[in-house]
Amino acid sequence: MLQAESQKVIDFQFLKDNVGRFNLGRSNKTILIPEMNRIGGHLMAAVFRGFGIQGVVMDTYKGLELGKAYTSGKECYPCQITTGDILYYLKQEQKRQGDRFNANNYIYFMPEAGGPCRFGMYNKYQRIVLDSFPDLRAVKIGSLTTNDGYSLDGMIDNGQVSDLRKAGYLSVVISDILDRLLWRIRPYEKEQGMADDFIETSMKEMEDCFETYGVRKQFDTILDEMERVIQTSRAIMDPEIPEKPLIGMVGEIYLRSHVHANQNLIRVLETHGAEVVNASIAEWINFTTYERLRDTKTGLRLSLKQFRINEIKDHLQNMVHFAGDLLYQQAKQGQVYKRAKSILNLEKDHKIKELENVLKKNNLFSFDVGTEACLSIAGIWQYAKEGFNGVVNVYPFTCMPSTITSAVIKPLMSELGVPYLDTPYDSSFLPGREAAIRTFMYQAYQHFNRNGRQQHH
Ligand code: SF4
Repeated sequence: MLQAESQKVIDFQFLKDNVGRFNLGRSNKTILIPEMNRIGGHLMAAVFRGFGIQGVVMDTYKGLELGKAYTSGKECYPCQITTGDILYYLKQEQKRQGDRFNANNYIYFMPEAGGPCRFGMYNKYQRIVLDSFPDLRAVKIGSLTTNDGYSLDGMIDNGQVSDLRKAGYLSVVISDILDRLLWRIRPYEKEQGMADDFIETSMKEMEDCFETYGVRKQFDTILDEMERVIQTSRAIMDPEIPEKPLIGMVGEIYLRSHVHANQNLIRVLETHGAEVVNASIAEWINFTTYERLRDTKTGLRLSLKQFRINEIKDHLQNMVHFAGDLLYQQAKQGQVYKRAKSILNLEKDHKIKELENVLKKNNLFSFDVGTEACLSIAGIWQYAKEGFNGVVNVYPFTCMPSTITSAVIKPLMSELGVPYLDTPYDSSFLPGREAAIRTFMYQAYQHFNRNGRQQHH
């Protein structure tokens, strides 16, 4: 049984020693991956397994009561959920293994961002929570950070870093494609439940594919399998069902991806007649790489002005590194979408540079501020200009970047005459939520009837 010590002692050495990068390849430990978007987590775990790392996706949302019990209520909602997930998982493991349970066998995987919001604090806070249970102190927290563009250096043997990164990135893009495929076919399915069942089976097939071919870098074989899945999915759609209003979704990455946390918002919108396109996960990965490149360019300009030779050399080296990563990511993403779209017209992603230009040109916001607000504000603007019939911003209650997004974009959407809805979530069920969504969809239908809709480009 989990037993917390009544007197919690915060030992900062523990934060230093037990949160960070650990070599996963040689550890023989189980890597515990929290489920944010279901497909993404499972494909990433499959990539890990291919590289000999024992990756497991933890059940999610079952431990919410534990998450609430060990947070104060002031933390972001995703922090409560993930705290619950890790405590619940370890509690189940303790039950299952009894005396054989050894906390030392696990590394819990929780990335972080450098700020300015609170994501950088989740893993530190969760370290403190785990340390308050004597039996769980030995569980390490493995962390990647946006500060170095989610570099994997040190987490696996040097010779494999680049291969793992490439296979991992491909798994992110293909999980985006499978999600988009689900949202593309479900509103038009011949029988209720067909699309969900099909995507669940396809996810497992893609998992096997990544586990076998990811480590061998046989990416074309993986893409062939993806094409087969998309081709098969076409039979699920009923051509007699007329086109529906197209709704764009943006917001905080965890909430918009985690169907329990957002109370299955996409499905609720579909129930009221929408076809939805959610912002992708690869967009965030590309954004973090783009931001590092941008920071490095700024640093280089400064060191050139001050004529600091060593710093100039470092910045140049980093620039080459991040520019190479960004180029690779965007080229790979472009290649995957091109192959997918040759079979079914799925919505493609915006390029990060284009999003920054949109913000600059329209004087909306600045990448200097950072956070997801950059992507959400520009993304909403693009959706509106491209002819979407409405936009939804989904986020945890009190989330800083999403509140900024709402403040900036709401009056603009009103001016543009495009329906817009804020949907903040915590674990409670708002009695007026359904009515708000229904009203929003009524407006979206009016927009659709007046203007038609954008075709997926
Ligand atoms: S993005 Fe929002 S929910 Fe996520 S850590 Fe920042 S403030 Fe919290």
